[in-house]
Amino acid sequence: MTARPARAALVITGDELLRGFVQDAHSGFLAEQLRDQHIDLVDVHIVGDDFAKIEAALRRDAGQEPVELVIVSGGLGPTHDDRTTEAVARATGRALEVRPDALEVVEARIRAFGRRTESELELFAAGNRKQATMPHGALWLDPLGTAPGYVLDGGADGVTYVVLPGPPSELRHAWRGARMTGPLVELGARGGARHERLLRIWGIPESAASRLLDATGHVDGDDRRVTICARDGELELSVRGTDAAGVDALVAQLEAGMPDEVFARDDERPIAQLVGAELVARGWTLATAESCTGGLLGGDLTAGEGASAWYHGGFVTYSYEAKTELLGVETDLLERVGAVSEEVARAMARGARARLGSDVAVAITGVAGPGGGTEEKPVGTVHLAVVSPNGERHRQIRMPGDRATVRRRSCAVALHMVRELLAEG
Ligand code: ATP
Ligand code: MG
Repeated sequence: MTARPARAALVITGDELLRGFVQDAHSGFLAEQLRDQHIDLVDVHIVGDDFAKIEAALRRDAGQEPVELVIVSGGLGPTHDDRTTEAVARATGRALEVRPDALEVVEARIRAFGRRTESELELFAAGNRKQATMPHGALWLDPLGTAPGYVLDGGADGVTYVVLPGPPSELRHAWRGARMTGPLVELGARGGARHERLLRIWGIPESAASRLLDATGHVDGDDRRVTICARDGELELSVRGTDAAGVDALVAQLEAGMPDEVFARDDERPIAQLVGAELVARGWTLATAESCTGGLLGGDLTAGEGASAWYHGGFVTYSYEAKTELLGVETDLLERVGAVSEEVARAMARGARARLGSDVAVAITGVAGPGGGTEEKPVGTVHLAVVSPNGERHRQIRMPGDRATVRRRSCAVALHMVRELLAEG
């Protein structure tokens, strides 16, 4: 029997999410965690702090894909509007009870937050009892704060509920406890071992990858499933399934169709870190010169630890004066061709390399918008240059999108230009 993997739904609660004050940080994290756990996430619901809506989402309407796991976040606090536990009890038909062992931990946490007098502690008493109240049979999870999350075991045929506190650090801590519990381990084992491969692609559009996939005659099933996802101009193509040899064969076939475009296999490190590893392998260092990205590229390069081994530093040169004084770009040149030009991009890269004595340097200069575009250089026009012992490269791109997108994409293009130049030598 080839059992199918367990399926999960997320119910994420919080008015602040619906009102746009806070962006949901849980679904991305939990999606990745569930993937590692070999559980398929099939649904994500975001609901306000409304008892009836939370309960309805927990019961799941008819017509939705059946799931074996429901993960709920938020609403475990001590205040009247934190009603998740009540909704879970109602939806699962379980009675609520105060758990003395959990109450002890909650009280200890409250004390640990500061020395409190008995009369101060009195004020917390009701809230503490509320946070130690859970549906009958709950396996409660050691809390980072004062809200113990818990797991309700659904058994072989039922639905398991995992209930987690809303603050991201608390949710992550509680989840790490939850995934070790028996019910979660068992759900993870349902689908049997699954094999997953990842190809990261640069330089072709999604439609081209999709055509390649069509040409293989592949059809999604539990044995083999493919997703193609665009991220910052990169494509991520993942193939996963129960048939390991079949998965590998399809990956090989796809890779053969784009020999120059696949730049990483089964490696999820950000491109900046892949570039760093390539530089280390050659014993080279990198410098940056940024105009319209204002240091974002330097931020990408230093987001992972250990960058000092290969990243010298960079210049943020926004004005003509800064480009001239910090990078030695000629004033005449700037006045003749403008800051957003091939010549200036090249001059910025050469200047950064010379001034910092690095082996490689990359420069970005462009019109990020929304204003400042001209007919000749519309918003989204960006010039990039890389200089290295392998030679010099320039690219001009015109990308659609808002200011943030243009800036982000410019960094991605810059990093891939460095990667490509390194790969040449
Ligand atoms: P508390 O004890 O703080 O009330 P709680 O378990 O009741 O915890 P919420 O009240 O829902 O959780 O959320 C607490 C805080 O956590 C919110 O102010 C919000 O900033 C953050 N938060 C909640 N849900 C999310 C989410 N999905 N993504 C990002 N942040 C969130
Ligand atoms: Mg709350």
